[in-house]
Amino acid sequence: MRAAFRRRATAHVLLRVAVATLSVVFVGGRALAADGGNDGKATNPAPSRGITTNMKVANFDDALSTALARRGAASRVACDGRDPVARRILNEYGAVFFASNGAVPPPVCIFAGAEEVESFQRAANASAREVGGVLIELQPSAMRALLAARVEAQAEGLDITPRDGAESARRGYADTVRLWNSRLLPALEYWRAQGRLTDEEAERVRRLPVREQVGAVLELERAGVYFSKDFSKSILYSVAAPGASQHLSLLAFDAAEYGDGRVRQILARHGWFRTVRSDCPHFTYLGLPESRLPAHGLKRVETADGEFWVPNSGELQPELAQKR
Ligand SMILES: [Zn+2]
Repeated sequence: MRAAFRRRATAHVLLRVAVATLSVVFVGGRALAADGGNDGKATNPAPSRGITTNMKVANFDDALSTALARRGAASRVACDGRDPVARRILNEYGAVFFASNGAVPPPVCIFAGAEEVESFQRAANASAREVGGVLIELQPSAMRALLAARVEAQAEGLDITPRDGAESARRGYADTVRLWNSRLLPALEYWRAQGRLTDEEAERVRRLPVREQVGAVLELERAGVYFSKDFSKSILYSVAAPGASQHLSLLAFDAAEYGDGRVRQILARHGWFRTVRSDCPHFTYLGLPESRLPAHGLKRVETADGEFWVPNSGELQPELAQKR
């Protein structure tokens, strides 16, 4: 009975993946027509200095469609760009889908649960190494690049170490739910005490299934009821939606030395970039030279906290750049 259910469920998921992929391709295609962009094909990269000139620039949705099509049916991303929650997730964390150079990008926009995460992590064959006295796990290519960057940093009298124990790298699905709740629950209490939410509204959001809960929080934030740690900005700048964290894909690392521009440059030379706006210690392994990032629909944004490479389809959040 359970096996039969699982077979049906699997067939249903596969169908949804195929349909969702087509919708990304379709939506992306329309965006391309409007922008007159290119097809995201690789060209000879410009040298990494002066990267903003003579660069091939692609529209993010279009570059993503091209990348997915190239990967083929085996690793299509279930991410319907027209679903507002999926859209936000893509805009905030979408750079990871371009992970290259031996890295396996996540197979879904949002992992649905622990079982899906565990099976992806098993297949990705995590490599475990001790870094700065902490055992961390990453995909093998990401680990090799991180260790090479660390050797280079140490040769310059610098270092690259985990910011927050083992959680700096691999996380499980339950970790992402716990971290989400660590922002959600205090914020519900805060806004209830402020009179912006009634007891019933706060309770309703608290009880929603995860996916609906993310949608409800993003909707409240549109009205200025923010769920970040200090209640001043979106929860997504504070913590990933459950199942959407790049740490689940074993391609993210939170570095203690993120504030040092020289460390960031070394990490960038080894394919590690900050791709989540305002998440300052968080680096993503893309395995690409910096000069190639615009061809994948990523744009460089400069903030008071330094540079980030984010999807160029992202909503404009000028107030964030001015904060801090
Ligand atoms: Zn992180």
